[in-house]
Amino acid sequence: MSMPLVDRLAAIVGAAHVLTEAADLAPYLAEERGLYHGSALAVARPGSTAEVAAVVAACAEAGAAVVPQGGNTGLCGGGVPEAGAVVVSTERLNRIRAIDPVDFTITVEAGCVLAAIQDAAEAAGCLFPLSLGAEGSCRIGGNLSTNAGGVAVLRYGNARELVLGLEVVLPDGRVWNGLKALRKNNTGYDLKHLFVGAEGTLGIITAAVLKLFPRPCEVETALVALPDPASALGLLAAARRASGDAVTACELVPRIGLDLGLAHVAGLRDPFERPHPWYLLLELSSSRPGGLRTALESVLAEALESGAASDAVLAESGEQRKALWKIRESVPEAQKREGGSIKHDVSVATSRVPEFIARATAAVEAALPGVRVVAFGHLGDGNVHFNLTQPAGADKAGFLAEWERMNRIVHDIVAAMDGSVSAEHGIGRLKVAEMARYKQDVELDLMRRIKAALDPDGRMNPGKVLPP
Ligand code: ZN
Repeated sequence: MSMPLVDRLAAIVGAAHVLTEAADLAPYLAEERGLYHGSALAVARPGSTAEVAAVVAACAEAGAAVVPQGGNTGLCGGGVPEAGAVVVSTERLNRIRAIDPVDFTITVEAGCVLAAIQDAAEAAGCLFPLSLGAEGSCRIGGNLSTNAGGVAVLRYGNARELVLGLEVVLPDGRVWNGLKALRKNNTGYDLKHLFVGAEGTLGIITAAVLKLFPRPCEVETALVALPDPASALGLLAAARRASGDAVTACELVPRIGLDLGLAHVAGLRDPFERPHPWYLLLELSSSRPGGLRTALESVLAEALESGAASDAVLAESGEQRKALWKIRESVPEAQKREGGSIKHDVSVATSRVPEFIARATAAVEAALPGVRVVAFGHLGDGNVHFNLTQPAGADKAGFLAEWERMNRIVHDIVAAMDGSVSAEHGIGRLKVAEMARYKQDVELDLMRRIKAALDPDGRMNPGKVLPP
């Protein structure tokens, strides 16, 4: 008689690292936004790549679905398991295997918390530039599996662009060791890019070689008050030209974002004397000291003179820099406290962001009078968090019932503008139907063939990414 799967898992990772009690499972079944609630046979917490491989092989033999999970901070339900699945948590795969300040590389296991990688890079005089709201608890395997973006994509690229090599456990339990630290490697299909952004549907990333950069020693941060989003485009281009392309963040905040922050977030302060319709957080950084301040000041002086900017403040200390960032970082939290939010994580060509905001705002306001548009985020790379806050005093549940209708209006505009309906959060469960609607048939066909080639039984994170 064959051993039950849970017993086999315990034999592989140790009984202490196989969870089956409801209270132990609970944190792995819930997700950030509370949109889904999962169910699972067990959570396995392997401590090495070999153990991950053995766990996945045992699940393959038993015909059980495998749901990889990192920090469980995803926003689209990509890590939520269905009944009978085994959650494979990477939390014990948390070693930094190597760091090389000459190659500018770091080799990390999938369960390393993003902030721990940033800290290790800094201690070696380097920068690991991936930076996002959840960095204190998200894990790099999940960042890579969702091709995470964040606030530094403009200068350093998204997670995909920071990967040199990967180690992956395949759905049949084999291990692909692609941990090469090469900048050049033209030897056929680049397999690592299949697994980045696949959200665990093709295998489990267990380790990665990542790119590092020289650590900046000069950082200049400004908050610029703007009459409209279009003014930000010229300002960004001018700042890039004047600084030797040293703009590392370019974040847009609407007045309502600041207003909600002032109402709901302790310690937030409006640095200007009067309100302005829009704000741009502009940050320049360089590993070469000197010059950025002058460049930024001259760009801002020109913008103030031409009317592209209405006012501006420059951070004079690390504390002031933090205070300016807090204005941007408080927006999601403030929106949450204000009531229901219907969210869109979309992108268009950077030059078309103002047009997108104008079109989408007009369309949703016409469809749902009183809705409050909070469009903020990564203007520098074309990614807008086009979030809708419920009308003041409205019923939250009634507003959230409009989710799909609002999605349709906004995503149709994004599609008409050659944009993307998921810029940096992924697909998970949340946007599977949008894949069916907005991806070309030929794209979906190729994706399904890749899925069938790597995971013929469809056991890796089923129900995610690809529409049935
Ligand atoms: Zn974002």
